[in-house]
Amino acid sequence: MTVQIPALSDFRRIVIKVGSALLVDSARGKVRLAWLTSLAEDIGALHRQGKEIMVVSSGAIALGRTVLSLPKGPLRLEDSQAAAAVGQIALARTWAEVLAHEDITAGQILLTLGDTEERRRYLNARSTLARLMEHRAVPVINENDTVATSEIRYGDNDRLAARVATMASADLLVLLSDIDGLYTAPPAQDPQAEHLPVVPRISAEIEAMAGAAGSELSRGGMRTKIEAGKIATSAGTHMVIASGHGKNPLRAIAEGGRCTWFLTAATPARARKAWIGGALEPRGVLHLDAGAVKALHRGASLLPAGVARVEGSFERGDAVLLRGPDGAEVGRGLVAYDSDHAQSIMGRSTAEIEAILGVAGRAEMIHRDDMVVGAK
Ligand code: GLU
Repeated sequence: MTVQIPALSDFRRIVIKVGSALLVDSARGKVRLAWLTSLAEDIGALHRQGKEIMVVSSGAIALGRTVLSLPKGPLRLEDSQAAAAVGQIALARTWAEVLAHEDITAGQILLTLGDTEERRRYLNARSTLARLMEHRAVPVINENDTVATSEIRYGDNDRLAARVATMASADLLVLLSDIDGLYTAPPAQDPQAEHLPVVPRISAEIEAMAGAAGSELSRGGMRTKIEAGKIATSAGTHMVIASGHGKNPLRAIAEGGRCTWFLTAATPARARKAWIGGALEPRGVLHLDAGAVKALHRGASLLPAGVARVEGSFERGDAVLLRGPDGAEVGRGLVAYDSDHAQSIMGRSTAEIEAILGVAGRAEMIHRDDMVVGAK
């Protein structure tokens, strides 16, 4: 069976991860501006084609340590946090400038592990990203290293980028790296190592090619890239690893340059709906009126006005069951309000939410992207 290799033009929402080694000239501790400008050109070209782009950029610590004249070698946690605080400003400014050249507005997002793993915060981050996409802005994302401590941090931006991609339902994750993809063995040590252009599925054999887990040397190496691939492909996001050594690295991928594609059979929407429909334990029930049931079947979001009764105690972001007036299950979804607030605004119009709760909440009780409608 021949495997179809995708083209960059197949994708609509793309997360691009850029590693520190590409962005920062380690000898001078400065941004490699000519290279970054060429990457921004590629991003501009994709953006003009109507694609939605997000950037996950490393480099804060690498830039900040030079400014603070910290010694070479591993840094103590407080020093790397201080370096990140200093470097992140420079990093964000540089991105804003190179993207502005392409007439693109940049927005900075700093995430912690909790923001991507805790359901309520995850929903917040997801809706901020969605809104930035609507504004055609490009989020520039990094881990919030200044507050993340070792136990509660990603530490590498490969996995962070994969979580961002799945959170944003991106259909492609591009990892720009110092190597042009996956080899059957580490190419520096094994001259027989062969490059793999496509990985249809991440098997145990593929994982073994990435080398041993957890070694200090492999951090941010192929190991975390395969981990990122597992996160991405299981959520319906394709991934490609390509070299960022040359200028215009995205154009190089589009023109068929050497890289490794990790494929998924799913789509982000289907994978997400499967997750909402199956994997989560419902914490409550929203009983809907007949009009809301009809609207949901037409593909609409659930508005507070369509909710007749709230059952159970749940937090914002929890999964809830949706039942019609006859008690039959209509679907499931991730609710945008906790049970107390849901009680207060049920049956009311969206325009009244702010007056009732004292804060401007979301217009929908459950957004249609967060909902599965139909019998299980
Ligand atoms: N968040 C770190 C930084 O900006 C980088 C992590 C990584 O290199 O993967 O310096």
